Amino acid sequence: MQVGIIRCQQTEDYCPGTTDFKMAREGKQAFEKTGPVEIVGFVSCGGCPGKRAVGRAKILVDRGAQVMVFASCISRGNPVGMPCPHFKLMRQAIEQRVGDEIRIIDWTH
Ligand code: SF4
Repeated sequence: MQVGIIRCQQTEDYCPGTTDFKMAREGKQAFEKTGPVEIVGFVSCGGCPGKRAVGRAKILVDRGAQVMVFASCISRGNPVGMPCPHFKLMRQAIEQRVGDEIRIIDWTH
């Protein structure tokens, strides 16, 4: 299965996403239901308030993503305990744009 991962741009400075890649590769945590997956793209939301994530999600789908995954920096606020205040709207907008083509997973680890 192929997935696209969207992450928080504000977290990029200090997190290379190592655990996201590891969990995806090993089929663990949020990927327990899918099993090991191939990451077709690992992009940021583009910065607050996350509008760019919608177009980026579409590109990930065009590149083969069957599942869109929000990294835990967005939904859980990893690793500093500050979840994205725009997560709900960002998720809704992405669901509207590509929800017919893919499923969505809200976290990674
Ligand atoms: S919109 Fe949310 S996910 Fe994107 S940079 Fe801002 S806080 Fe991070």
